[in-house]
Amino acid sequence: MSADRVPDCLFCRIVARELPSAVVKEDTAVLAIRDIAPRAPTHVLLMPKRHITSAADLSVEDGELLGRIFAMGAEIARGQGIATAGYRIVTNVGTWGGQTVDHLHFHLMGGRAFGWPPG
Ligand code: AMP
Ligand code: ZN
Repeated sequence: MSADRVPDCLFCRIVARELPSAVVKEDTAVLAIRDIAPRAPTHVLLMPKRHITSAADLSVEDGELLGRIFAMGAEIARGQGIATAGYRIVTNVGTWGGQTVDHLHFHLMGGRAFGWPPG
């Protein structure tokens, strides 16, 4: 699903500043916030400001948006000092993918080593 905004969506409400968050960086299309329950020393969520339910709803037209998200992620990683050691960017899709918030977001995690495959 893709609409500008979904009224009862948690991340749409954070984007609209109806709910508080710790903003790390933003531009006109992308918001990066600190995860409220970090699973790594650095754990940032990058999301489109426009509501997109998950990566399953992306299309070719979203290419620029995705470029912005990954470029911002790389910039944040450098700023947080995790770029040299390496980090992980992951997005969960649906129930078995572990998605709990139905507004597309990418987890940028670093500051420790991660196993593969994820559990
Ligand atoms: P996922 O389970 O992949 O959908 O990721 C959702 C993430 O959102 C989890 O890592 C949560 O800790 C995080 N989260 C939930 N509520 C908030 C919030 N109000 N502010 C920041 N992060 C949140
Ligand atoms: Zn939303």
